[in-house]
Amino acid sequence: MRTCLNAVWNITAKCNYVCPYCINEAYKRTYGTFVLPEAKIWAAAWNRIEEELVIDITGGEPFLWDGLIEFIYLLSEDKRVAISTNESLDFLEFVQKVPPQKCINITMSYHPSAYVDLNYFIGKVLMLKNRGFNVNVNYEAYPEQMWIIPELLEKTSKYDISINIDTYLQNTQTPYYSFNESELEFLKHNITDLRNIFLKEKNEYHL
Ligand code: SF4
Repeated sequence: MRTCLNAVWNITAKCNYVCPYCINEAYKRTYGTFVLPEAKIWAAAWNRIEEELVIDITGGEPFLWDGLIEFIYLLSEDKRVAISTNESLDFLEFVQKVPPQKCINITMSYHPSAYVDLNYFIGKVLMLKNRGFNVNVNYEAYPEQMWIIPELLEKTSKYDISINIDTYLQNTQTPYYSFNESELEFLKHNITDLRNIFLKEKNEYHL
């Protein structure tokens, strides 16, 4: 049986959004001027791994790297990627140059805090989906945007788009928020990730 490795590659903490709940805030200052090397250098490095490999590319915003498409193109046949993105940048070139079988999954995060139009966001998800990409949506149950979760669920369900609703993970870089009873009740029925269970056990979250 062949072994397929999985690696998570956080290529940059840089992002074109400034979400209040961003856990990368601390790193953004450090990596603000960091320049990624050429795509061919990175591709050659990953291609040295002999096993079959899926590289889970995340950030920050991976599409800020102008070498991303070339990097995927230069990967050897037994290397594939998965990408997490805020979906803000132009995907026209991507869908025309990257075959869906080379990119096993795209996680698209919806961020109303960046004043993104929901219809346009869904439109991009559908473009990728209809080009054969496996796409899912991710959403953060931040206090200022959690109450629109039902609308989001309705919309994604209408177009058969899978969605994950994340717990708002607080850390020293993000605003502290104490959820009240009605908010906690709402979250109990709308959070779909498993981190709330873990955090409850750790006593670090109120759910
Ligand atoms: S889109 Fe993601 S990486 Fe960018 S600021 Fe928002 S949470 Fe952070």
